[in-house]
Amino acid sequence: MSAVILDGKALAASIREDLSQKVQTLIEETGVKPTLAVIVAGDDPASAVYVRNKERACIGAGMGSIVDRLPQDVTQEELEALVRRYNEDDSIHGILVQLPLPKHLDESRVLELIDPKKDVDGFHAVNMGALLSGMEGFVPCTPKGVMRLIESAGIDLSGKNAVIVGRSNIVGKPAALLLLQKNATVTVCHSKTEDLSSFTKNADVLVAAVGRPNMITGDMVKPGAVVIDVGINRTESGLVGDVDFASASEVAGYITPVPGGVGPMTIAMLLENTYIGAKNSCAKA
Ligand code: NAP
Repeated sequence: MSAVILDGKALAASIREDLSQKVQTLIEETGVKPTLAVIVAGDDPASAVYVRNKERACIGAGMGSIVDRLPQDVTQEELEALVRRYNEDDSIHGILVQLPLPKHLDESRVLELIDPKKDVDGFHAVNMGALLSGMEGFVPCTPKGVMRLIESAGIDLSGKNAVIVGRSNIVGKPAALLLLQKNATVTVCHSKTEDLSSFTKNADVLVAAVGRPNMITGDMVKPGAVVIDVGINRTESGLVGDVDFASASEVAGYITPVPGGVGPMTIAMLLENTYIGAKNSCAKA
């Protein structure tokens, strides 16, 4: 292996450590304890793990954590009533609705109901719009974490070819905007892209956010590239990313592992966003 590992676990730990100090200071100075409310509906096992990890991380950073575990058959009205209650509650600074919701629920209606000032996931159209136009707002946690990992390696993105595979609202599209903000030349690939490797082979920075185990192989990577693997795929051989780590790490200059790369950064950014929400609430009080 020749690539330098971008250790998201270590970076996330140091961000969380730094945040816990800031949280302490905020509590001492204002009495405000940054608090995140997480709403999860149904019994998706992966969601249960994610929610537990978020809860632990909040508590570990000295933040408040509330988790509502709603039954699979919760109604749209009940879910919306809970979101409205947290919107009104000044002791809550972040509201996160764990996705995916059970199929009978209207996901986008619920997300749009969250007060944008508490939308720590950054999925509300107001925050998405802010990102698009370069205004201040909550940036979605996973792409924000991706950018921090790239910055941590001291990589100057200006003029670099950045290729993102995947165009979801939660990862691919916001990642494209963030890379563009840093003056990268950005290409977004997706399931209809023809000859994917002709794009990936030209990428100085390659972000894989697809959800297909090991689909990006070493022969698709430009020598020396920065390879960021967002994918989390549960396979018989355990958790794997969208990048075939064994072959890609022979070619790349930098690479994130799965697990231990982008995943822990996502949670660290969620805590950071909740802290920002709390701080903003003090400024407006
Ligand atoms: P998603 O909404 O399913 O989007 C997947 C994207 O990949 C789509 O844009 C799709 O194209 C594209 N795609 C599918 N097959 C392709 C192919 N053969 N070639 C090129 N593009 C292809 O997924 P997501 O929510 O963005 O998540 C992507 C992965 O990241 C998943 O493994 C997920 O578990 C993981 N994830 C990790 C974190 C973390 O914290 N590490 C956070 C979020 C997600 P179309 O748009 O054309 O369908």
